[in-house]
Amino acid sequence: MPIQIDNPYLSNVHTWLRGNLHTHTINSDGEGSPHTVIEKYISLSYDFIAITDHDYFTHPKELPNSSLTLLPRVEVTERGPHLLAIGNENQPLPDTDRQKTVNAILASQGLAIFCHPNWEEHFNHCPQAILEQTRNYSGIEIVNGVCCVLPGSGYALDRWDRLLGRGIKVWGFANDDTHKLSLAGKAWNMVQSDTACTQDIISALRAGRFYASTGVWIQSIEVSGLEITIRTENADRIVAYGDYQRQLAEIEAAEMTFLIAENCDYTYVRFECLGCGGKCAWTQPFFVNYVA
Ligand SMILES: [Zn+2]
Ligand SMILES: [Zn+2]
Repeated sequence: MPIQIDNPYLSNVHTWLRGNLHTHTINSDGEGSPHTVIEKYISLSYDFIAITDHDYFTHPKELPNSSLTLLPRVEVTERGPHLLAIGNENQPLPDTDRQKTVNAILASQGLAIFCHPNWEEHFNHCPQAILEQTRNYSGIEIVNGVCCVLPGSGYALDRWDRLLGRGIKVWGFANDDTHKLSLAGKAWNMVQSDTACTQDIISALRAGRFYASTGVWIQSIEVSGLEITIRTENADRIVAYGDYQRQLAEIEAAEMTFLIAENCDYTYVRFECLGCGGKCAWTQPFFVNYVA
């Protein structure tokens, strides 16, 4: 049966914007004022951030003018696993049924992202059953900076591949979850967008036109037929993964061309680009579709 690749990336957009979607300030338990946090991310050459205080909605209109694009955002913390809401115009009501919270975020045109699933001593801040049963959220944090220095794990690649392997199509995000300013700039998203306006950034995030990074830079992602080519600036190893984190291919190089076989027995492929010092970049998954 013929197959097609669902490619989230555009070949005619070459501008990548750098952004952090999870930032705290003194309006919850962060260290800096909104102004200080914004200045910090400007100094790190970011293009956009979202200020996401716990259950405290920050609208960009309340913030000083800045060269950064500031996305409306909140981290919904009460009554269940933490959820980021991005792009909505008001604060969604927290509900113990996280599907209702996700629905409220979507109703105001926002994106919903489950935060740090493997945080805390039990590595289970967000149970896998909730990730599997909830519908229409955009993705999960596969890297959360502050949880790397707290009990549990800041990484959730295991959770992501379990979801993707079950056919649940969600994107992987990397965020600082900034509390201390000294830990800003550790994990971010590179978004493929021609402009830095809020709506274009949110549209790109919604469509998966971004990659997650902790320090490896991807130069280009190209798809031609069933061939996917990833070129990086500074990876020394690239690994292709399929369903349930099954390794499909690896190469000790800064670029990889991967050919999806017509008779493949996996439903997606995603790429991890590993560099020195534990740095990495993660593409979004390319889903394999069988065409009747
Ligand atoms: Zn949180
Ligand atoms: Zn947070």
